Amino acid sequence: MPTTATVMNKPYVLTETRKLTPTITAYTFKAQDGTSIDFTPGMFAMLTYKDSNINISRAFSIANAPPSDSLEFVIALVHGAFTSKLENAKVGDTYYISAPYGQFKFESSADEKILFFAGGTGIAPFLSMLRSIRAKKINMDCRMMYSVKYPDEIAENEELNQMEIDMNLKTFITVTRPKPEDNWKGDTGHVDAAMIQKDVPDFKDRVSYICGPPAFVKAVKDDLVSLGVPEKNIKAEMWG
Ligand SMILES: Cc1cc2nc3c(=O)[nH]c(=O)nc-3n(C[C@H](O)[C@H](O)[C@H](O)COP(=O)(O)OP(=O)(O)OC[C@H]3O[C@@H](n4cnc5c(N)ncnc54)[C@H](O)[C@@H]3O)c2cc1C
Repeated sequence: MPTTATVMNKPYVLTETRKLTPTITAYTFKAQDGTSIDFTPGMFAMLTYKDSNINISRAFSIANAPPSDSLEFVIALVHGAFTSKLENAKVGDTYYISAPYGQFKFESSADEKILFFAGGTGIAPFLSMLRSIRAKKINMDCRMMYSVKYPDEIAENEELNQMEIDMNLKTFITVTRPKPEDNWKGDTGHVDAAMIQKDVPDFKDRVSYICGPPAFVKAVKDDLVSLGVPEKNIKAEMWG
């Protein structure tokens, strides 16, 4: 089957679900006709659920590396209109996908130093970017600050640890709502200017990519600007 640049409302079959955290599940869909799709890491797809009563679409960042005949999504199950359908989804179910979309594209060259900021499921596009860098064996200098509410909400923790061995990546995780029994030894609280300066002192030499809920994206972007990072070196994707 050929690799195509875009798909419009094409049937995709759910081939795998993996529970990553208590609230986040990874869903993998494969094109019914086997078409591979090419996309730039960071882009998103529109997923549509249809039955005789409803037709509902939502945007989700693609989490796997291109090109692929499968698309993986890392989704927080928030019991909303779309995610409550996914909560009951079974392998073999058909959803409809249009893709790829968006301007949050990872187009940095190998000589650029990178700094990712992920808030919660905002990790999804960075998984695609990191998996793509790993697959292409590019020796890119990457740092990532990843904010989660609880330690058990870190998605793909094992893979991220393995990436630190396989690639030039260092991830700094901050837990915003640690409980004493978590015994969490890393950063705590929201990402702020002091945390950025402490964890990634050469942040001004890096191209920054930020993804997550609007409050997270705005706060991190404001911090970077207040620390003197030019806006042209900041790329952001806001959900919601
Ligand atoms: C470009 C882009 C990329 C995105 N990528 C991702 C991604 O990779 N992963 C991801 O998880 N999300 C992603 N999103 C968000 C996603 O598109 C949806 O907005 C999200 O999944 C919620 O959709 P929903 O239909 O389930 O909730 P909606 O019905 O639209 O409800 C919106 C919000 O209301 C609350 N809510 C609604 N109903 C209930 C209820 N019954 N109980 C409790 N709370 C409720 C939830 O907090 C929910 O978030 C992305 C959004 C954009 C714009």
